[in-house]
Amino acid sequence: MRKCFFAGLSALYLFIAACSTTPAPIRHGGPPPPTLKPPLAISSTASVMAEQGPFQPDVDLYLCPNSTITNAFETDERYRVLNFHPVVLVDGKVVLTPVPTNNACMTSGFGHRMGRTHKGLDFRSQPPGMVYSAAPGSIREARYSSSYGNTVLIDHGQGIYTRYAHLNNIEPGVVAGLPIGFGQPLGIMGTTGNSTGIHLHFEVLTGTYSAVGSSSNLTSRNPLSFPPYMGQGGS
Ligand SMILES: [Zn+2]
Repeated sequence: MRKCFFAGLSALYLFIAACSTTPAPIRHGGPPPPTLKPPLAISSTASVMAEQGPFQPDVDLYLCPNSTITNAFETDERYRVLNFHPVVLVDGKVVLTPVPTNNACMTSGFGHRMGRTHKGLDFRSQPPGMVYSAAPGSIREARYSSSYGNTVLIDHGQGIYTRYAHLNNIEPGVVAGLPIGFGQPLGIMGTTGNSTGIHLHFEVLTGTYSAVGSSSNLTSRNPLSFPPYMGQGGS
């Protein structure tokens, strides 16, 4: 289907090129000419969003050098997180990336932080980077909330979800109820909602989704706690 999209794009370019160089035909009666319709992949943003997107996860993860990280991580002398896996398998069911943005460093980890539990990972990049879907699924929420700001919640099936919070914007086509592929743009990281600076707050959640705005049935999990995905047939 991804090939169809690019084939459709080139068809559109050919169409535009043909339109710009071909003089309008002189009509001498007869039936009206057929109406040209754009290919389906172009007329429908939703069908494009359901395909795999352009994102490729970074191989390494670094801690931001000047941030105060109270949840300890083992790193090397260059602040590179040890035993980091860019693609993980959650509960033996869903393959996802725990860092759904590029060229970012981590400002905060999962767990105990200043007397509270931090339910996700915080990432920052300069300039603020695009945030992508961590795995294929369907969009459960794409909305504004006072705490999460512009936020997207994706249902990956089998009781596994990801949340992306404080986005500067929500990309066109990211709409609740629609399917989404891996690596599709969701929005630029921002500081909307209850946030003190531009960053992405990313959560992996498990359980049964009950209602918009209610996370009470969902358990937040440490995205860096899952084993690496070894590929089909791997262990
Ligand atoms: Zn956070």
